[in-house]
Amino acid sequence: MATVAWIGLGHMGTPMTANLIKNGHTVHGYDLNPEALDLAAAHGVIPVASIAEAVRGADAVFTMLPKGEHVLAVYQGADGVFAHAETSTLLVDSSTIDMDSAALLHSSARERGFRFVDAPVSGGTSGAALGTLTFMIGGEPDAVDTAAGIIEAMSGNIIRTGRATSGQAAKICNNMMLLINLAACSEGAVLAGRLGLDPKVFWKVASVSSADSWALRTWYPVPGIVETSAANNGFAPTFTADLANKDIGLALRAGESTNTPLPTATIVAAQLQELIDTGLGGRDCSLIIKHIDPAVG
Ligand code: NAD
Repeated sequence: MATVAWIGLGHMGTPMTANLIKNGHTVHGYDLNPEALDLAAAHGVIPVASIAEAVRGADAVFTMLPKGEHVLAVYQGADGVFAHAETSTLLVDSSTIDMDSAALLHSSARERGFRFVDAPVSGGTSGAALGTLTFMIGGEPDAVDTAAGIIEAMSGNIIRTGRATSGQAAKICNNMMLLINLAACSEGAVLAGRLGLDPKVFWKVASVSSADSWALRTWYPVPGIVETSAANNGFAPTFTADLANKDIGLALRAGESTNTPLPTATIVAAQLQELIDTGLGGRDCSLIIKHIDPAVG
């Protein structure tokens, strides 16, 4: 069993650490937000007051932070992971971040003698709670194997994507497709309602027909249909519009750098940006349905 330093105990980090603990690992957790730390402590995380304290004696460090800038600060800062961890400690970043920051983290870790993997996840807060997340892991094979031994406790699928940063590449493409699917669910749901269909009956049709998707089965943006949908809780966040906009922005930047046109993602990005511009960035990203039916939410 491993001793894990976990940095970032938000919507994902908290249920992920709960599964590590259920499987016998020890977790020392750190978060800037004291309420997040209290919540994690309630399911067995040992709360600590600094990154230095978290990484002391750890077999592995996991980071689950919002954006590349937060991850860089946590690893590279004077009070950060590189400054305080032993080089024998495996470093795992499970946040979804941009390719450049991921590449910089790999090279900075290598220069300092650390093993580092990028290991972003898919499956949402429901997958995190059930321990069924898909992890996509990029890096040197021996580091990936060591990471997989700990990740098992939180995952349904562990996919070795290849070289350094390939996990982030897979995640960026996956989330672009997810958010396009979510926008498609929003348009379909509103149109179905206006054509007089019972929302449950239409969802049943779509879920066993060619419109099926993970977004349809997990995040359908209409209340009372899918248990895990944020629509059931007034669009309280499971994955904020801010973070969804970050992810589709990562795809658009990757599109620019590879000369890949992404016209549909561009439209969805504008819809998420509109949520943010109207003060709704902290709500769940499935509130994108508001773009089709302004009365929702
Ligand atoms: P979140 O905002 O709920 O949690 C992030 C946590 O990091 C917060 O508790 C915040 O206080 C903490 N934090 C920020 N800066 C910090 C710092 N410098 N030191 C310590 N703690 C710090 O976000 P989340 O929804 O848990 O997502 C985390 C990452 O996982 C993101 O990159 C997101 O894109 C990705 N992700 C989210 C989901 C989802 O459904 N929520 C699914 C897959 C992947």
